[in-house]
Amino acid sequence: MADVDGLVVGGGPAGGMAAWMAAKNGASVIVVDRKTTIGEPVRCAEGTFSSLLASFGLADGPWVVNEYRQAIVKHKGSKDIIVRPKRIKGVSLDRVRFEQEIAKRAREEGVEFRMGKVVTGLQGSSIHLHDGSVIEGKIVLGTDGIESMVGRWAGLTRPLAPNDIAPAAQYVAEGEGWEADTVQMVLGSDVAPGGYLWVFPKSDRRANIGVITTAASGKRATDLLDRFVKENFPDITMIKRTGGCVPVARPIERAVKGPVALAGDSAHHASSFGAGGIHSALFSGAVVGRVAAKAAAKADPRVLEEYEDIWKKVLYKNLQRSYGLKTRAYGSEKGLRRTLRMARVGSAIISHLPVDPLGLWWGRLDKYV
Ligand SMILES: Cc1cc2nc3c(=O)[nH]c(=O)nc-3n(C[C@H](O)[C@H](O)[C@H](O)COP(=O)(O)OP(=O)(O)OC[C@H]3O[C@@H](n4cnc5c(N)ncnc54)[C@H](O)[C@@H]3O)c2cc1C
Repeated sequence: MADVDGLVVGGGPAGGMAAWMAAKNGASVIVVDRKTTIGEPVRCAEGTFSSLLASFGLADGPWVVNEYRQAIVKHKGSKDIIVRPKRIKGVSLDRVRFEQEIAKRAREEGVEFRMGKVVTGLQGSSIHLHDGSVIEGKIVLGTDGIESMVGRWAGLTRPLAPNDIAPAAQYVAEGEGWEADTVQMVLGSDVAPGGYLWVFPKSDRRANIGVITTAASGKRATDLLDRFVKENFPDITMIKRTGGCVPVARPIERAVKGPVALAGDSAHHASSFGAGGIHSALFSGAVVGRVAAKAAAKADPRVLEEYEDIWKKVLYKNLQRSYGLKTRAYGSEKGLRRTLRMARVGSAIISHLPVDPLGLWWGRLDKYV
């Protein structure tokens, strides 16, 4: 007999949300994470959109530390593009507090978090831990991020190609040179091949300044970032240095196999072009959690197909489009200039629509979660 209805491997945004929603829908849930503290260390620029947060009552709270009015996209040789969204709001999170808030709400629904535990194997719907123990669930949710081993063990994912991995480096900095309400993004194959540099302010004195590139570029993200900072923000003080990788790959074809389902980065749900994955992780995590509770209650993993249908319907095409955009825009300077020209024309229209850069139509999402 299974120890628990839902076993969640990874307690990040996708896993926390999956656990919360599964428990809210009646399932017993255990989350296992190798980290000792939820959310730490932060490997993120902490920018997202408030629309989906609002669906979960998370749009306001001490984890939302700043709101953005506009984004300025810069490229040497092109005119700046200014995007001022009217229908969606960009925000800066305190990601540790944010993930811990989700975990708190999950715990209130009865979820048990087992921290400091590394999952080393999967057998059917049982997971093996580094300490030799085994936990059996009715359903296993792989929300274990870009390196998802649950995905590999289940035969759902394969190692990513260098061009589909985006290494990133970031400083949390104090100083000046930015407006608190303005996100800056700098593109160009010379400064950030296959990606972009960013300034995501947390206040008028503090900002996340970083770069994302492609593993195929042969450039080190830290070198690109150091050059950018030296040339543009020579007087800032570094508070913290961080980094990590984002999957900028095509979405996987199937996220469900038997009693196992993947969500968030493990299912390549991050945007290939923008490299943002918080909002899609929250979305797919919430949906898979809700559906997993139903599958466990019916003792029928085939119910997980409902999740497969929903993420395919809502995310798949947008993720494909984002991948195509990445390939065109970051493939050459010519492609980038053409993409920026189109973005300039489209920015005025996009500003008035409730869509984010992934193309998600926020008005539509609520009915699925
Ligand atoms: C430098 C950087 C900046 C970024 N900035 C942004 C941004 O501004 N906005 C945005 O939207 N996105 C951003 N992203 C992407 C975003 O962080 C991810 O898309 C998001 O975290 C995906 O959430 P997730 O829950 O799927 O995976 P994760 O947040 O990676 O969570 C996976 C969890 O699984 C655990 N885990 C993994 N393997 C095991 C194992 N074997 N056993 C036990 N536990 C395990 C990990 O410890 C982790 O807690 C950034 C990424 C990086 C690297």
